[in-house]
Amino acid sequence: MFYLPDEVFVNGERFKTYISKETLDKRIAEIGQEINRDFVDKRPILIGILNGSFIFLADLMRHISIPCEVDFIKLSSYGDEKVSSGKVTERKELDANVEGRHIILVEDIVDTGLSLSYMVKKMKEKHPLSVTIITLLHKFEATKYDIDIDYVGFPIKNEFVLGYGLDYAQEGRNLAQIYVLDPEN
Ligand code: 5GP
Repeated sequence: MFYLPDEVFVNGERFKTYISKETLDKRIAEIGQEINRDFVDKRPILIGILNGSFIFLADLMRHISIPCEVDFIKLSSYGDEKVSSGKVTERKELDANVEGRHIILVEDIVDTGLSLSYMVKKMKEKHPLSVTIITLLHKFEATKYDIDIDYVGFPIKNEFVLGYGLDYAQEGRNLAQIYVLDPEN
């Protein structure tokens, strides 16, 4: 049984349901179909940006029916706070050789765009054939860095969310849908 309360307290703050599991499932299946169509015969390598993207990536991959590979890289920009620290720290390197490959970067959420712009620059230095960006959530009003996002699950307001892989001070990743901080706390 999935962990799906209507509301939840994480680190003493109240969060309410924002994007339901049903809505997530439907949209992720659609993105999977688009990848199947757009990457046929390209054997893409999906690169998950840890930790937040691990659940989204796992679900997305199960909708991909063309040959593909996976690897992970770990970045950190939030620490344990609800606002970005403004600097990216790399905590795990890529293992795969991506030269001449079609890379699909899989991100949980784009906020300022700092992490992704850092990642795209780093990936391009490795001479791939292409770099495509997928994010489940996009805080479009908060994005300051110039990045072209190819597939967006859901554009969202500039609010703090958690669940479905996203944490608040390392808690809440196991929630099976997306929650938002309740202003009426
Ligand atoms: P950016 O570099 O785009 O400013 O921030 C991207 C990273 O910040 C995401 O990968 C995620 O780890 C974290 N982040 C941004 N917004 C949120 C949010 O609303 N909730 C959570 N849990 N993490 C966020």
